Amino acid sequence: MLGQMMHMPLTIGSLMDHAARFHAQGEIVSVETAGGVEHSTWGQVGANAHRLASALRKLGLEDGARCGTIAWNNRRHLEIYFGVAGGGMVCHTINPRMGPEQMVYVINDAKDQVLFIDGTFVAAAAKLKPALKETKHIILMGPRDEETAEALPGILFYDELLETGDADLPWPDLDENAASSLCYTSGTTGDPKGVLYSHRSTVLHSLAGNQPDGLGISAMDTVMPVVPMFHVNAWGVPYIAAGTGCKLVLPGPNLDGKSLVKLIEDTDTTLALGVPTIWMGLLAALKETGAKIPSFKRTVVGGSALPPSMIPQFAEYGTELIHAWGMTETSPLGSINQLLQRHTKLSEEEQAAVRLGQGRAPYGVDLRIVDEAGTVLPHDGETQGELQVKGHWVIDTYFGKDTSALTMDGWFDTGDVATIDEEGFMVIRDRSKDIIKSGGEWISTVTLENIAISHPAIANAAAIAAHHAKWDERPVVVAIKSDDVTEDELLAFYEGKVESWQTPDKVIFVDELPIGSTGKVQKNKLRELYGDVLLDKD
Ligand code: AMP
Repeated sequence: MLGQMMHMPLTIGSLMDHAARFHAQGEIVSVETAGGVEHSTWGQVGANAHRLASALRKLGLEDGARCGTIAWNNRRHLEIYFGVAGGGMVCHTINPRMGPEQMVYVINDAKDQVLFIDGTFVAAAAKLKPALKETKHIILMGPRDEETAEALPGILFYDELLETGDADLPWPDLDENAASSLCYTSGTTGDPKGVLYSHRSTVLHSLAGNQPDGLGISAMDTVMPVVPMFHVNAWGVPYIAAGTGCKLVLPGPNLDGKSLVKLIEDTDTTLALGVPTIWMGLLAALKETGAKIPSFKRTVVGGSALPPSMIPQFAEYGTELIHAWGMTETSPLGSINQLLQRHTKLSEEEQAAVRLGQGRAPYGVDLRIVDEAGTVLPHDGETQGELQVKGHWVIDTYFGKDTSALTMDGWFDTGDVATIDEEGFMVIRDRSKDIIKSGGEWISTVTLENIAISHPAIANAAAIAAHHAKWDERPVVVAIKSDDVTEDELLAFYEGKVESWQTPDKVIFVDELPIGSTGKVQKNKLRELYGDVLLDKD
């Protein structure tokens, strides 16, 4: 027998309509790329999202058409999130820190028909344009600008485009399983892979991820996603914000500590989310300026492991630090560290020790650890294994691939190594991937190694992540010479081959590299030996 309740599809457009209807005056603060701070409301953003959806249809875009964005966190980007997905198309957020080759690859792989760009990226888009196969329109996210019109002939202007749209046009009827947004993840080897989210997965992530033991955002909050909107949908915050009608602060392009402190003060931000490097910058700025930020009650940190000193440092400002784990393939929320009743009896230090881990899975996610043979390992807090995940907002198949990304029994292998205790508290112990995370951005070790090895005086090389006080991790190359070459000469060899921030910080010359049983360099051994060589560098 079936239940007899209404069936309403879980759609992203319905989140926006809720915000626009019940929180019409709820504020959206946006730091603009062209400078200045703009104030808008959920009501205005909702109307513009509907205008955009209808304007894109008039441009000829059909159901499921991919629309790329190369943009910072700002009001227009928010409207694009909802207008594109609500209108039945797919919002493909592109990481501007990818190299140009990778950007061309992802835009062509996604078959982006439209590319929305912020003013910062006009020159970059002009360079990419000849290589873009399916892109029919590039749209500057702003008013008409003659200089840009000359630099990129044929470019459209967002504000003009909106005028062609109809704010009263309802969203089309959509299947909740329809695709809504697309985000690429870059691995150590091979091309980036696309993760294609659905309306249903996104709405369930917003509802379950925002439980009181999750992000716990309410209409009383002022929320600032510092995590970029091109990184896993800003951890889902725009959708959660619309579902709750909270005040939203979009910090634009300047994410240095001082800019963020000022923005928190000016907007009375209560909660912000970002990677550890961002919070290091913020803490340094707080120290330097003596600012107090009394409104700032909570901060969520994820993307890479939380440095232990950060919890007490934030506690001095009355800010609770919440550690979360996730990945592009998990929308991203996989676990979040909120304490249990029994922890309240522990001392502050003991509580801080628990909070250092990555926390528990919310309803809707299941976690397990397995050994190399796939045997499920005990949740005893000590046994380490490959972390696998399952859930309503976890990937099934990468975009454009035919085969499932899951194990035979339907779990997604995260590539992280973790322990899980009896109460479900998970701790990431290592990652099986060796990718270097510099300030939250990824650097491929394989790329760095290939460049080193292509130098005529280098016989072999391995790139590893070394701990760094400011950037968390920076690349170090461990190399075997076959002829005379100095460290400076090898570092100079990287110029023009990778982005300057991807160039290694140091080269260490050795006589041999540790090789494992399958013939691969054992990078974990190299990290043990050289992982701390940059600790005295700034
Ligand atoms: P991404 O797909 O770029 O979000 O990266 C996902 C990866 O980042 C995960 O597989 C982890 O290796 C790492 N990661 C994310 N959050 C954390 C965390 N809180 N602690 C340690 N590593 C993390």
